[in-house]
Amino acid sequence: MTAPVTFNGVSHWFGAFHALKNISLEIGEGEYVTLLGPSGCGKTTLLSVLGGFIEPTEGQVLIGGRDLTHVPPAKRPTTTVFQDYALFPHMSLRDNVAFGLRMAGVGRQERRARADEQLALVGLADAAGKRPHELSGGQRQRVALARALAVRPDVLLLDEPLGALDLKLRRAMQDELKDIQRKVGTTFVHVTHDQEEAMAIADRIVVMNAGRVEDEGAPARIYRKPATLFAAGFMGEMNRIPARASGTGVETPFGPVDITPPAEGALVLCLRPEAVKHANGTVLIGPATVRDAAFFGTHCRVHVVPQAAPDLTIVAHLPPDRVPAAGETLALTAEIDAISVFLAG
Ligand code: ATP
Repeated sequence: MTAPVTFNGVSHWFGAFHALKNISLEIGEGEYVTLLGPSGCGKTTLLSVLGGFIEPTEGQVLIGGRDLTHVPPAKRPTTTVFQDYALFPHMSLRDNVAFGLRMAGVGRQERRARADEQLALVGLADAAGKRPHELSGGQRQRVALARALAVRPDVLLLDEPLGALDLKLRRAMQDELKDIQRKVGTTFVHVTHDQEEAMAIADRIVVMNAGRVEDEGAPARIYRKPATLFAAGFMGEMNRIPARASGTGVETPFGPVDITPPAEGALVLCLRPEAVKHANGTVLIGPATVRDAAFFGTHCRVHVVPQAAPDLTIVAHLPPDRVPAAGETLALTAEIDAISVFLAG
């Protein structure tokens, strides 16, 4: 089951603290959306408003076109997967998964069949009789997911669901989560502060900062052409180069660049490390001295100091075939398409 979600001018205050600031957002039926942002930006508060755990001070929440702003969690077509799994230790996995169905008055045989179906979906068909303590962290998280999906919600809410897992397992579970979401077609809204996780999973990323939506869109668009300086900096590593508007172009420490400035005055030119090249780029950075370089398998991460701007250090991801030596001079360019320009400040 699946449904679209609408946040309509949602604001929330905790006492005098303004935690959500006029958020309007559409989430499509069957879409996998991540709410991404730094600690304290309001991700969990927005998810709690969707789940009915927080009644917003202002605005509306619609699920499947129905206004559910004042409807309690148990009466919403939503379920939540938390980071700490919250499984019942004394129950078998099957009983854990069937718990919500029991509460909903579903008969024993159907409960069992549906629980087994969900356990199969998350790859635990053979473990139905086990107890949670017999499982690894990743397996427990899969049971929590099966339990949340067993009641067939229209919208599944996931609050840092992979936060307790080590990095390797986390990456594997990201692939699984996306795969499961494709199979069930339920709308997934997933809170994370990990931009790689958001990019690995989401159809659409909503970047939040200080209670507001800074940017929203497909991961590649947000990465390549972020809407704001904050979104640019939060989605991966970014070089910030001071610049100024000059007529119809932008004046940089390396000379003029043919990009339309967003406004007059002090600007920041944002350049991704992988957009810095040895040659053949469209913007000349010129000779730059290598400060240090590290080999990362897929690329070399190199700090360089451009001779045209000795106060600036630029991070470049260069091909891994050769690790440049400290003190070496490289002739560098950049791809103009990979550059974004914002007002400074
Ligand atoms: P994190 O990733 O750390 O969980 P978050 O983006 O999910 O962060 P929220 O939990 O939504 O952030 O909190 C947003 C802000 O609201 C924070 O500054 C937090 O301290 C504040 N806040 C959250 N819950 C309450 C509450 N019950 N009372 C007062 N302030 C709160």
